[in-house]
Amino acid sequence: MSFFFLAQLLFPKQFSYIFPWNYSRFSMKWLSGNTVFELLFPRLCSCCGNRLLQSESCICSYCIFHFPKTHYHLLPDNPVEEIFWGRVKLKSATAFLFFSKGSQYQKLIHQLKYQRGTDVGRILGQHLGSDLSNSRRFFNIDYIIPVPLHPNKEKKRGYNQSLIIAEGMSLSMRKPILDGNLYRKLENPTQTRKNRFQRWKNVEGIFDVRNATELKLKHVLLIDDVITTGSTLEAACHPLVQAGAEVSIATIGHVS
Ligand SMILES: [Zn+2]
Repeated sequence: MSFFFLAQLLFPKQFSYIFPWNYSRFSMKWLSGNTVFELLFPRLCSCCGNRLLQSESCICSYCIFHFPKTHYHLLPDNPVEEIFWGRVKLKSATAFLFFSKGSQYQKLIHQLKYQRGTDVGRILGQHLGSDLSNSRRFFNIDYIIPVPLHPNKEKKRGYNQSLIIAEGMSLSMRKPILDGNLYRKLENPTQTRKNRFQRWKNVEGIFDVRNATELKLKHVLLIDDVITTGSTLEAACHPLVQAGAEVSIATIGHVS
């Protein structure tokens, strides 16, 4: 038995480049015009790292099917809403996915925040938005509002990750984004490595609104990438509530 024959039997996936007919995903499409490009620059799933099918974008169907969803959007008094009890009055709150440390799904947010993974953010936002569209608790949203970054931080990163998620949500929910009214007036040091009380003190009073009239009696959906202690989201809620808005919250991840 030749070496290549044995190798392709043992590692059919790895040898799909050399023996594409062994890898059912490719079949005769291997002979199409995109093949050479695909061969040199294979598109990989941002979550599991496997090769993407032509019909897939950024995240493979397997990883999407196995999203560790919380389904909190269907559950009143869920653990995300509990975070805000006695702190700020919310209409509804949810997080899309459970995040455990180092999980493949947490990696997606890391890519969105630190590796310019904006496509990943839009896709996650679209999936979250689809779920919320089917929930009575998020039914009458007037505006989607991304939690703003301080201009200095946004300039450094090149984009606001919450706005990227909001863009995906706006597509699937068919609701407008209101960006620029809520703003961050102070630049706070990073929340990482701070305890719950320090996090709360760190962000107290750092947000404000530019036009309260635009928000009065509106139901706004405030978006952030991840919720941990909820201190940033709480600080962002206060000026919205003071302006007369009803506030709901949605994030991609819930770190418990
Ligand atoms: Zn995958």
